[in-house]
Amino acid sequence: MKPLSKSGIWLVTGSQHLYGPGPLRQVAANSQKIARALSASPAVPLPVAFKSVLTTDEEIRRVCLEANQAPECAGLILWMHTFSPAKMWIGGLSLLRKPFAHLHTQFNRDLPWGEIDMDFMNLNQAAHGDREAGFLHARMRLPRKIVVGHWEDPEVLDRLGAWMRVARAWQDLQGARFARFGDNMRRVAVTEGDKLAAEARFGYAVDGYGVGELAAEVKGATEAGVTRLCAEYADRYTVARELRRGGARHGSLRDAARIELGLRAFLERGGFRGFTTTFEDLHGLRQLPGLAVQRLMAEGYGFGAEGDWKTCALLRMMKVIGAGLPGGTSFMEDYTYHLHPSGSLVLGAHMLEICESIAAGRPSLEIHPLGIGGRDDPVRLVFNAPAGPALNASLIDLGGRFRLIVNEVDVVKPPRPLPRLPVARAVWRCRPDFKTACGAWIRAGGAHHTAFSYAVTAEHLRDFAEIAGIELVLIDRDTRLAELEKELRWNEAYYSSAPDPRR
Ligand code: MN
Repeated sequence: MKPLSKSGIWLVTGSQHLYGPGPLRQVAANSQKIARALSASPAVPLPVAFKSVLTTDEEIRRVCLEANQAPECAGLILWMHTFSPAKMWIGGLSLLRKPFAHLHTQFNRDLPWGEIDMDFMNLNQAAHGDREAGFLHARMRLPRKIVVGHWEDPEVLDRLGAWMRVARAWQDLQGARFARFGDNMRRVAVTEGDKLAAEARFGYAVDGYGVGELAAEVKGATEAGVTRLCAEYADRYTVARELRRGGARHGSLRDAARIELGLRAFLERGGFRGFTTTFEDLHGLRQLPGLAVQRLMAEGYGFGAEGDWKTCALLRMMKVIGAGLPGGTSFMEDYTYHLHPSGSLVLGAHMLEICESIAAGRPSLEIHPLGIGGRDDPVRLVFNAPAGPALNASLIDLGGRFRLIVNEVDVVKPPRPLPRLPVARAVWRCRPDFKTACGAWIRAGGAHHTAFSYAVTAEHLRDFAEIAGIELVLIDRDTRLAELEKELRWNEAYYSSAPDPRR
């Protein structure tokens, strides 16, 4: 994955002047110590800087505006070390555009039973200071994550760390641009949607380009560049004999390399973070981009097939969330089923475009015919995905609002070899079970395209939905269909009037 732009989190501590300068100095020193400890924790992915102790309306307003402007600030952690009358926070928090987490902690883990006096009580008042803050956040309907516990508790560090990953991904999405080569696959419904609403809600832009512009870039690839890339393929993959240098179809491998060079050049020049293609529009391309898409996804680009820009952006966002965590993240499609009485399985794949980051072992580089698209046979990487817990996520446009649908799954080793299947694939069992999961997914309107990940968790996506102010439908081991159907109805009422959290 390509390096992400630098970002960090600000720790902001609330207090008031009632206690005098001594306690406020202590509050600042304690906050500094916590910020240093958070930064040093391996569970915490971003540096945490102690920003300041805030005690007046003016200070709070200034820090919130500063956070909005600071490109390096992905979000704020708020904590009330002492009581901090929350009316002071209304002005600042109503201007804040960055995500925040409310850390409900206390500097001292244990009560000093033998020594505790009123000075200790006045200094360590988060138990009621954070309740005052929580009331105001609830009263203002502010989106936030609440993390409870001592700041050295590993579980607290994990919860904060998960939220920071999402804050960083949210920051990456703001101002991101995605290129759409061609339009939607004709007549497909679920890949459509309101790009203006998406830009207002999620902060990213989707812009269309004629595939001819990409073809021109592909034409510009140099023969030396193509030869170098083919050598890299030979290093990284088990290349089919016919595709190797001197093989009968080596020319097709060179065409694929040319497409990769052209596509990368186009994306880099435009500063794009993802792209979509459609096999109905390949004007000027000799084969449907398969290998190129697989490799660019592995570098961190979002991707959606058939013009699916919502999955493209979701995939980019999930790749940023998962950056540095074990397990890959890929574009995916629920393709076909194994409907067996002993437990049904889903075979996920696509025509070509499954990300190399989820390969179990060394991928095989092959060429096979493709029945659709009407071009030369495309080159692609073929592999299985490893067994383990993963999830599928789908973002849909319900008209007027978005819904994120997530299903936790358990990927299994394919029960038998698949020697004639010419594409990368994953085989999984749905949680809680096949019938409930698919019934819920279809009831909620989840798409056939998903972003599939071993690294991203339901917690991450819950934090994302909270920041974005969209509905999350989670299908996991606790899902019961009758309850989920009620949740969808209630959410319909709630989200039809819920304000966008940043307006
Ligand atoms: Mn598809």
